[in-house]
Amino acid sequence: MIRVGINGYGTIGKRVADAVRAQPDMEVVGVAKTRPNFEAEQARRLGYDLYAAVEDRAGQFDEAGIETAGMVDELVAESDVVVDATPSGIGAQNRELYEAENTPAIYQGGEDADVADVSFNARSNFEESVGADHVRVVSCNTTGLSRLVAPLREAYGVEKVRATLVRRGGDPSQSDRGPINDILPDPISIPSHHGPDVETIFPDLDIDTLGMKVPATLMHMHSVNVTLEAEPDADEVRDLLAEQSRIFVVDPALDIGGSGDLKEYALDMGRPRGDLWENCLWGESVTTEGSDFYCFQAIHQESDVVPENVDAVRAITDAATAEESVATTNDALGI
Ligand code: NAD
Repeated sequence: MIRVGINGYGTIGKRVADAVRAQPDMEVVGVAKTRPNFEAEQARRLGYDLYAAVEDRAGQFDEAGIETAGMVDELVAESDVVVDATPSGIGAQNRELYEAENTPAIYQGGEDADVADVSFNARSNFEESVGADHVRVVSCNTTGLSRLVAPLREAYGVEKVRATLVRRGGDPSQSDRGPINDILPDPISIPSHHGPDVETIFPDLDIDTLGMKVPATLMHMHSVNVTLEAEPDADEVRDLLAEQSRIFVVDPALDIGGSGDLKEYALDMGRPRGDLWENCLWGESVTTEGSDFYCFQAIHQESDVVPENVDAVRAITDAATAEESVATTNDALGI
C-alpha cells in the first residue's frame, strides 16, 4: 500500500483524501490543517488522523475538542508521498519540509511551475513524473485544456489553440470572492497565464488564452477553437473525444443546458459533493470548419484535478503505467 499524507484539508485536500482512500493500493496516513473548523471536525468523523500544521496554533484543536495525532512533520515523515493542497504560495514554502523528511511531494496548480521538477496531467505526460521527487498537478483549467488537446494532437496534429475561459468568480464557499454583478476581463492583458501553463505540459504547443471572471460559483466554461493539421468531420472528432475516459461528451438527449444542470445531474447520480471529475463537453457544440475545430466544455474547478492527484501518486512512486493508473483511479471513483 502506498502511504499518502495530505497537507491542507480544504476544497481540494478533502476530495483528494477521499479519492486516495477509495484506491485499492493506497491508504491515507492522515491530513493536516492549520486550525479547527467544520472541515477538521468532518475529517475526524471520517476517521482521518488529523495533524496540526502550525506549532503555535496546535492547542486550538484541543480547545475545540478535536483530537490531533501530532504535528505535520510527523505526518510527512510517515508518508511515502505527501499531497500538498494548501493555498497558493504555501506549497512552495512547504517544499523545505518535504525535502527535510525526504518525502516526495505533489503540489497544486496555484503554485508557480518552478515549485516542482515537472508539471503533471495523467492523459498527457504521466511518464515524465515517474520517479520525480516534486510534481505539480496543473490547475483545473489547465487540466481541462490538456485533456482536450492531448487526443486532438495525437489524432490530427494541432497547429494552434485559442481558448476563452469564462471563469467562476469563486468556489461556492468563497463568499469573499467576486464579482457579484459584473463581467471582468481577467486578466485584461492578453494572453492570460493559462496558455503558458498548458505549455508546461506541451512545451511546443502554440496556444493563446483569454480569461474572464463572472458572477458564478459552479463551474468554469471554456470556448475553444483548435486549428488542426487535418480536416476531420465533426462526427469523427466527437467520437474520438467520447472515447476519452475523462471527457464526458454531453448527449443532447440529456437536455443539459449549462453548469447548473450539470451539477444537478452529478448530484442525482449520487456523486460525492456533486463532483464532476471529467471535462463536460457538449456534443452538439463539436463543430469543424475545414481544419478548425470548435467546442464548449465546462470544468468543475473543485474536482477535475482530484483523479489527477491520485495518478500523480502512482507516477511519483512508479507504481503503475499511465493506462493502469487511470483505469484503477477511474474504477475506484466511478468515473
Ligand atoms: P482551500 O483554501 O479550500 O484549502 C486550503 C486548506 O489548507 C485550508 O484548509 C487551509 O486551512 C489549509 N492551510 C492553510 N495554510 C496551511 C499550511 N501552512 N499548512 C497546512 N494547511 C494549510 O484551497 P483550495 O481551493 O483547496 O486550493 C488548494 C490548492 O489547489 C491551491 O494551490 C489552488 O490554487 C489549487 N486549486 C484549487 C482549485 C479550486 O477551484 N478550489 C482548483 C484547482 C486547483
